[in-house]
Amino acid sequence: MSQFEDAPLPPTIDPTQPSAARAYDYYLGGSSNFAADREFADQVKLIAPFTVPLMALNRSFLRRSVQFLLNQGVRQFLDLGSGIPTVGNTHQVAGRLGISARTVYVDNEPVAYHHAQTMLADRTDTTILHADMRDVTGVLTHPDTQRLLDFTEPVGLLIVGVLLYFPDHAAVSEMIAAYRRHLTGGGYLAISTLTDEPAPPPLRADLAAMLSLYRGLGEPLYPRTRAEVTAWFDGTDLVEPGVVEMPLWRNDTPAELDEPARTLGYAGVSHFQ
Ligand code: SAM
Repeated sequence: MSQFEDAPLPPTIDPTQPSAARAYDYYLGGSSNFAADREFADQVKLIAPFTVPLMALNRSFLRRSVQFLLNQGVRQFLDLGSGIPTVGNTHQVAGRLGISARTVYVDNEPVAYHHAQTMLADRTDTTILHADMRDVTGVLTHPDTQRLLDFTEPVGLLIVGVLLYFPDHAAVSEMIAAYRRHLTGGGYLAISTLTDEPAPPPLRADLAAMLSLYRGLGEPLYPRTRAEVTAWFDGTDLVEPGVVEMPLWRNDTPAELDEPARTLGYAGVSHFQ
């Protein structure tokens, strides 16, 4: 049993009910997960062996996009659907580069929130809100957001590996537009999400089996086409190379290009004023 499992939890959390957020932490090699999460994740890995490489490709895109934004001078991040910040998360990317940046994480999963809050307790430049990211006003008017982010300066709006949970394409477009309206100093938008479009048939069949497991968990996932992902960037200027398979986005790890799971995720980054 890990240190995480020994720690006291809020009574609302049921550790026997697997959660997609904690399974994701497990895929990434984190320790913020319970036996039920690991059991579910192991079942997924058996049916869909691409899962761990896919999650790693996603986290690698997060790292590269944050690095890119830091190189453009961005020093504040709003990271929606941030997950459990154990392995290579946004504030850690900036920290490793020795750059001082402010980060507001947002997650609606109680364990991700509870654990992240404990981990970040000593930091004054990074915090997590326990909120539904679709509540744009609630997120942006939260006292911690107001304290850490200056909307008149560029913000890195990170929506990485989370839009796959949302069934309604148009509602996502409206949500993104609503965030952008409030970010009057402009900034950058980074998105990655699941696709079944370019995958060869056997991989697509494995993905279908995986999607069925997540449906059984009560957390259905929705793959998107490149056209759909590109539409989420409407009104912004996509930076090169546009919306592409995740490891093709400004890759710095050539081995990722040989990874079959690369056909299961699209990513892009854009600039907005
Ligand atoms: N963004 C991180 C990354 O790409 O490495 C973590 C991605 S993880 C797969 C997705 C996270 O989004 C989970 O922690 C989940 O709890 C969170 N999430 C899902 N729906 C959400 C919502 N409506 N509001 C806030 N967070 C949400």
